[in-house]
Amino acid sequence: MRIILLGAPGAGKGTLAEQIKAKHPVAHISTGDILRANVRNGTPLGTQAKGYMDSGRLVPDDLIIAMMKERLGEKDCSEGFILDGFPRTIPQAEALERILSELKLSVDGVVLLEIDDETVVKRLSNRRVCRSCGAIYNVLYKPSKKGNRCEICGGELYQRDDDTESVIRGRLKVYHDQTAPLIAFYDKKGMLLRLSQTDGAESLSEALDRMLRERKA
Ligand code: AMP
Repeated sequence: MRIILLGAPGAGKGTLAEQIKAKHPVAHISTGDILRANVRNGTPLGTQAKGYMDSGRLVPDDLIIAMMKERLGEKDCSEGFILDGFPRTIPQAEALERILSELKLSVDGVVLLEIDDETVVKRLSNRRVCRSCGAIYNVLYKPSKKGNRCEICGGELYQRDDDTESVIRGRLKVYHDQTAPLIAFYDKKGMLLRLSQTDGAESLSEALDRMLRERKA
C-alpha cells in the first residue's frame, strides 16, 4: 500500500497512519517527526528547520525535497509507505512525482482527512505526545490513564511548542494558503479519497480499506 495523507494539522493523519501500520507492512513517513528528530539531534537540517517549525511556517521546499528523496530511496519504502505531512506545497507534489517515477513507484491514493478549523484548535491545544515513543493523547478526548506518563511505554507526555493556540491558527492559515491547493491538484488526477471524521461506526482505517477496495473493483 502506498498512500499520501492530506489534511490540516490535527486532522488525524498521524493516528490514521498508526492504524494502517498495525494492519499493513508499510513505512510511516512523517516529515514533522523526521524534522523534530533532526532538531533534537542538532543536525544542520534541524538547525535550519527549527525557526520555521517553532513559528508554524513551512520549512523551505528544497530542504524538504532533498530530505524526502533520501528517505523514499530507503529499502523499507519498497514494501509500501504512508506519507504523513508531505507533500505540503505544489512544488513538493511535483517533486514527489519525479522522485517516484525515478524509483518506478506509484501511489494508490491520496486520502484527504476533512476537519473544520475550530475542531483543530480544540484538538491540538489539548494534544500531548509521548517523548519516548511518539504516542498521541488528548487531555479532553483521550487522556492517558497514567496521568502525564505514556500508557504504552511510561515516557513523559509533553505539549509540542507549536501546539499553542496562536501558532495553531498560523499553521491553519499556512495550510489553507499553501497546502489546500493540493486538494484540486490530486482531485484532477482522480487520486483523491475524501474521509470525514463522521463516517459512523467504522474507524478511519476501516473506511479507507473499504474505499481502496471499491476503487479497485
Ligand atoms: P507536523 O508534525 O506535520 O505538523 O509538522 C510540524 C512542522 O514541521 C510544520 O509546521 C512545518 O514547520 C514543518 N514541516 C513538516 N512537514 C513539512 C513539509 N512537507 N514542508 C514544509 N515544512 C514541513
